[in-house]
Amino acid sequence: MKIPVFAFACLMSLISVSVQAGTAAHWGYEGTGGPDHWGSLGYSTCAEGNVQSPIDITEETPTNQHTLSFRYSDTPINVINNGHTVQFNYQSGSTITVDGKSYDLLQFHFHTPSEDTVNGKPFPMQLHLVHKSADGELAVVGLFLQAGHDSNGNETLDKIFGALPGNAGLNLTSSAQINARDFLPSDQTAWHFMGSLTTPPCSEGVRWYVVKQPIEISANKLARFQAIFKHNARPTQPWNAR
Ligand SMILES: [Zn+2]
Repeated sequence: MKIPVFAFACLMSLISVSVQAGTAAHWGYEGTGGPDHWGSLGYSTCAEGNVQSPIDITEETPTNQHTLSFRYSDTPINVINNGHTVQFNYQSGSTITVDGKSYDLLQFHFHTPSEDTVNGKPFPMQLHLVHKSADGELAVVGLFLQAGHDSNGNETLDKIFGALPGNAGLNLTSSAQINARDFLPSDQTAWHFMGSLTTPPCSEGVRWYVVKQPIEISANKLARFQAIFKHNARPTQPWNAR
């Protein structure tokens, strides 16, 4: 679905803009700040960890044995370009429950191409929904995005991809409501494994749930993100003995 120009203009008029200073970081995705150097930049777990993310998913990757229960509420747009991705912060009160444990949705963000791969192949994008339990455990739900017809075609996708801040440090807020529930495909069966943050400091102990069924978004939306971040994906890491 396309947002008519006049509606888009109205949406934009609701958005206030601020710039946060001092968010520059040394690490990145290429050159001397690239993933091969994260360890020597002071993030030792990135180089020395044994349970790192992302991974290449294969026939041997375990499927989650328990239903993921999503309880996502609407949230106003609060998005920041942090120099590494575009991150939408989530208002408290949205959760997933798995294995009887509840995790609050903190934020979601995007990578291009996907960080996890399937049989060696990346998808054009991956969405990470980052959750945290009361005792501090992180659980990330990963969704693969491929170019198509906005299969979950809805206003949320239009609002999100219409509100991507182009410059690092740029923070946008809007009273426009979005709901991450609108991303979810009909079949939420997921691969499940332990891993890490895919960005420095690469902390481990993160529960990963990568949903098998990809979702589709328009090529136009993919291009909009890739005009800001051409490549922001860490290479896959060894499975080791997890
Ligand atoms: Zn991520």
